[in-house]
Amino acid sequence: MTNISTLGFNFIVGCNNVEFKKLATVYNPNTRDVSSSDKDPISSENDDGSLSSSLEEKDENASQDSSQELEIDLAVWATKNKCTRSALNELLAILRKQGLRLPKDARTLLRTPRTVDVVEKCGGNYFYMGLENGVLKLIHQNVDYFADLEQIQLTFNIDGVPLFKSTNVQLWPILCSVQGFEPFVVSIFCGNHKPNSVEEYLNDFLMELQEMLQNGIQVNEIIKQVEVFAFICDAPARAFVKCIKGHNAYYSCERCVVKGTWNGRVVFNDEITEAPRTDDGFQNSEYENHQVGKSPLIDIGLSCIKLFSLDYMHLVCLGVVKRMLTFLKQGPRECRLSYQQLTIISENLLNLNGKMPREFARQPRSTDYLDRWKATELRQFLLYTGPIVLKSVVSANFISISFL
Ligand SMILES: [Zn+2]
Repeated sequence: MTNISTLGFNFIVGCNNVEFKKLATVYNPNTRDVSSSDKDPISSENDDGSLSSSLEEKDENASQDSSQELEIDLAVWATKNKCTRSALNELLAILRKQGLRLPKDARTLLRTPRTVDVVEKCGGNYFYMGLENGVLKLIHQNVDYFADLEQIQLTFNIDGVPLFKSTNVQLWPILCSVQGFEPFVVSIFCGNHKPNSVEEYLNDFLMELQEMLQNGIQVNEIIKQVEVFAFICDAPARAFVKCIKGHNAYYSCERCVVKGTWNGRVVFNDEITEAPRTDDGFQNSEYENHQVGKSPLIDIGLSCIKLFSLDYMHLVCLGVVKRMLTFLKQGPRECRLSYQQLTIISENLLNLNGKMPREFARQPRSTDYLDRWKATELRQFLLYTGPIVLKSVVSANFISISFL
């Protein structure tokens, strides 16, 4: 058993001041009969130790009921508004000062489990929260939406998340989402490296998923079918889960059997279309130079080709768009733009700075910072600003090929 706080979890953010004011008004301490703020509500008794009269007992019971009700309301409010533990502690201290019978600590109020069943697995700590539990919880929270739905489509994400800059401690959560809803956590691995066995890491999850795929999920005596919609992972996580070679290997293409060529790094320049990889071929381990082992997903009949989408952020934004701009900025002589041309592009971009609506995450920056452009900036360049800022610099033909 390991204390969850050692895993460095913090799922809670922000606190709403307006709601707090409303709450303080609703629970006006002057309307309640509370003897002492420092007393534990459960162990409180009369100061002189005498027996209470029936009237006093009634008052006492009513007061306990109302403080229990207040505790429940506060706990619901804090969870709904994602109130931080420190903010909730402060609120509790304020309310206690006003004479309300409330616990001192947010953890007592929210009944946070002090310990969780963390097991040692795959070279680190592992905690399984459950897939069916998560889906059922979602269904019960959105009864109307799921009432007429016969089939539930699940999307999964598996990824490594570094926790701190100074250490290698990382989390490997398995997340599940039903389209249109916030994802929930199925299991979490925490260790100094990625899980050392993909079979062990996925075992609990795949066993439960297989059961759900075969028998569906029962909601109020109605069985709803369950289907896997996709696995959305970045390239290293895909290689890990699918048991294939990394994205910089010669036979790393996940869609066809092409062999890359070496040009400072492995590149795929061949214009010849190679045979596509198929689920049958993958399941029969036909791709010896691509697969490094047998993925546990195959055992429960999941497709390792069609279910794994290739991510837009790395392929398009940080891939093609960044490569194209790098060629324009510092590529070979045939395609490199002159210093003056680059200056015009940067000026055009800076002219748009501050003018992009707030729906955009970032404002355009000069090409001097191209190395540090984030994926959203590259996407903005591709879809919105690119054709405009390049218009006076490159040929219309280039713009129509690259952007339209
Ligand atoms: Zn390919």
